Amino acid sequence: MEKDQITLDEFGLIDRFFVQSFDFKNRWPFQGVGDDCAFLDVGDRRIAVSADMMSQSTHFLDEADPYTVGRKALAVNLSDLAAAGATPKAFFLSISLPKIDQQWLSEFSRGLNEESLRYNCPLCGGDTTKAPLVRGQSKYTIAITVMGELPLGQGLNRRGALPGDDIWVTGTPGDAYAALGDIWGQIKVHPDDRLYFQSRMNLPIPRIKFGEAIRDIAHASADISDGLCGDLNHILQSSKVTAKVYWDWLPKSEAMRRLTKEEQQRCILSGGDDYELIFTAPKMYRERIQKLNDIFGCQVTRIGFIVEGTGSVQIIDSNGSEISALPSFNHFG
Ligand code: ADP
Ligand code: MG
Repeated sequence: MEKDQITLDEFGLIDRFFVQSFDFKNRWPFQGVGDDCAFLDVGDRRIAVSADMMSQSTHFLDEADPYTVGRKALAVNLSDLAAAGATPKAFFLSISLPKIDQQWLSEFSRGLNEESLRYNCPLCGGDTTKAPLVRGQSKYTIAITVMGELPLGQGLNRRGALPGDDIWVTGTPGDAYAALGDIWGQIKVHPDDRLYFQSRMNLPIPRIKFGEAIRDIAHASADISDGLCGDLNHILQSSKVTAKVYWDWLPKSEAMRRLTKEEQQRCILSGGDDYELIFTAPKMYRERIQKLNDIFGCQVTRIGFIVEGTGSVQIIDSNGSEISALPSFNHFG
């Protein structure tokens, strides 16, 4: 082991070991690491690409229904295309399997194919391997790469937020984490709300049409996979600005309102796995964005403002005091 090892989290390790600074010859112009998608300019086209992996026990429960695992594996990737405002065109599936369980595979592929058809995104290749057996145990790992199309020179990333922008969010973030918190015994969910929260965790909706609709008007955008504060902080760090978000403005599902305020804050501010979009846009587009509510039947809510300064998000409570959010999800955090 190296003597000078420093403590690294997920993003620190990517920066230290994987971000390259080589001088490549004749490469395709691209915008890379740090956004939901990389943009590759190929001839007169811009291609958006993203890769996301799901591991059994980490991203889905050991006993998870394979149909929902299949749908979700593609949905979380499509969600990164939505964050960029890109239109899905193709995906690749790499899968590592403990064994050939035909029933599991049949349900997994049914979910995957349904999602693929729903978003008009065909499977174009991939890789299949047998997972190693470690102490008698072996797990599924599913890695998907998704590709989408953008008009040349367009596409949203995390870098363009400006002071004065409104901050918006789609749907009702926090619901997915309520399901997980309930399973872990951390959050007391009302039995009548359990199915709703579980469907929000298992079947996220990639906001593709919404992403395409805000492509011309949003300044910065991300999807919420690590938690609302965590993903908004990614926008703030990339854009070098600060955010003020008002607790009372944050959208809360009916089921969420039945939890205690402390539980709501845990789920909405720091929970992850929502795959809703968080984005900033100039004030002049308020009416246009609100109209998207009716067009796509997907709730969109203004939750705060971008202000000057390089800081993290400030969450303001009803009485004007600041709420300190728990850290968002970070592998190795
Ligand atoms: P998201 O949650 O939107 O899928 P991640 O948080 O997984 O994004 O990744 C953050 C950024 O780091 C992305 O731009 C992603 O492409 C990049 N990234 C993640 N892992 C690696 C890696 N091993 N090598 C290079 N880039 C990576
Ligand atoms: Mg993302």
